[in-house]
Amino acid sequence: MPRCAGTKQDGSPCERIVSASQQRFCFAHDPAQAEARSRNASKAARSKPARELSAVKEQLRGLAEDVLTGKVDQEAAAVASRILGVYLRAVEQERKLREQEEVLERIEALEQRARQGVQRGWR
Ligand SMILES: [Zn+2]
Repeated sequence: MPRCAGTKQDGSPCERIVSASQQRFCFAHDPAQAEARSRNASKAARSKPARELSAVKEQLRGLAEDVLTGKVDQEAAAVASRILGVYLRAVEQERKLREQEEVLERIEALEQRARQGVQRGWR
């Protein structure tokens, strides 16, 4: 069985088995997959829900300050914070949905690779 030609972070050889028909590298070390790898890694950090979340946090903090300093009517602030609370739940739902979709995509990709492996007699 051919092994991945890549090197692990500690400098030792990767040793992951790659199929003969496949490339010389596993997914983690394939230079052709570098873009996909960094895309996966940074996707979560700069996602829309993450940005929305910090925007709402900012708004709530400002609202709290404005109530304490008397700049905003307490009742109006209470209504606004309830609305922002509902908005936060919607953002959370959206985040969960995205996460599920991502996991499904990855499972489908794995299943497809497994099927191709079986067809080639690769195990
Ligand atoms: Zn490797």
